[in-house]
Amino acid sequence: MRMYDIIKKKRDGNALSESEIAFFVDGYTNGDIADYQAAAFCMAVYFQGMTEKETAALTKCMAESGDTIDLSCFGELSIDKHSTGGVGDKTSLIVAPVVASLGGKVAKISGRGLGHTGGTVDKIESVPGMKSMLSPEEFISQTKSVGIALIGQTGNLTPADKKLYAIRDVTATVDSIPLITSSIMSKKLAAGSKNIVLDVKVGSGAFMKTPEEASLLAENMVKIGKSCQRRVSAVLTNMDAPLGNAVGNSLEVIEAVQILRGEKKGDLFEVSMTLAAEMTALFKNITHDEARTLVEKAVSSKMAYEKMKQWIKAQGGDVRYIEETSLFEKASHVIPVYSPKDGFISSMDAEKIGNTAAILGAGRISKEDKIDHFAGIILNKKTGEKVKTGDVLAYLYTNDENCENEAVSLFSSAVTVESKKPEKKELIYRIIR
Ligand code: URA
Repeated sequence: MRMYDIIKKKRDGNALSESEIAFFVDGYTNGDIADYQAAAFCMAVYFQGMTEKETAALTKCMAESGDTIDLSCFGELSIDKHSTGGVGDKTSLIVAPVVASLGGKVAKISGRGLGHTGGTVDKIESVPGMKSMLSPEEFISQTKSVGIALIGQTGNLTPADKKLYAIRDVTATVDSIPLITSSIMSKKLAAGSKNIVLDVKVGSGAFMKTPEEASLLAENMVKIGKSCQRRVSAVLTNMDAPLGNAVGNSLEVIEAVQILRGEKKGDLFEVSMTLAAEMTALFKNITHDEARTLVEKAVSSKMAYEKMKQWIKAQGGDVRYIEETSLFEKASHVIPVYSPKDGFISSMDAEKIGNTAAILGAGRISKEDKIDHFAGIILNKKTGEKVKTGDVLAYLYTNDENCENEAVSLFSSAVTVESKKPEKKELIYRIIR
């Protein structure tokens, strides 16, 4: 078999066989196939697409390209959640304790933030003492005893995806549905959970800008997951504006705690409850509505809040910071941003707001950057709200006194104020099962 023939076959619009796909994935992972041929392959897939059968084969080969995690000891109870990437998205910190308090087993591998999106591992590390690495034995035993273990990328999981994602990133081939599907689903399959809920973000801060595009991706991922014997649902959620009011690591942990204590409602509560209900529906094999009643009770009874504290403690975190969130260090500079005129906030560009948080120190521009756990943004107003000239739109938190002008200017350009009240957009577009 030759890589040249595989690229040509795909370029000409033909479907590849399982053995041709395996030849490519194995050869590229072990270095026998060069980057330029992988780049040509990705471009051919970008233009010609892949059938469901080809995408499933690509996903499986990528999932098996490195280590895999065995969660079979949890039977039907293992449950994972994946977000396609958002701004202010702290739902993992909320849904994990909720579903674990209802008997689900959340053994979760999460990422770090890069560019405008945040990462759950950075968020949990803002709690003093919290470990983001556990040995494989600790990972399983903590999931057994507490119901949650959440750690950063570990071992040699899906090396094929690491290499392929890097080449897609520099060859303008990221936004291809079969390539995104195989990238995300290979990682989920390797991570081992029987049940998977995908939070597919739609809007200005997401890969998928319209519900139609997002539905196509979601349907693809659900089908591929099912063909690999996993139970998968996808929830399409709005990412035209950041979720909740906090963007930035410790600020997001505090907001998650407020939700779990029942002190806060709004978009973050609604998206979190929908995701937690869908997760619970999968692992308990009940309807979404039945699960919704259970998850809301888990919050109102503080069962989920207690579970969060148990989890933080088990992973070495200082639980006093959860009980008394004012203990979190404050950034040295708090910069208010004011509304330039009277009107309504008609739109907020989530990507620009995520980039503002990165400038303030909360995120990474490149992988090696260090982050400031206490930097970020608290949004005082959100899309649809009425504002007057001089009202505070947001507070920017930073320990870097030199970033003020750049951050204020980018944040200001992210918020549009118009005289007409904007139409309300859906928060949850649909659930695909
Ligand atoms: N997230 C991933 O993990 N992979 C993609 O291809 C796109 C988003």
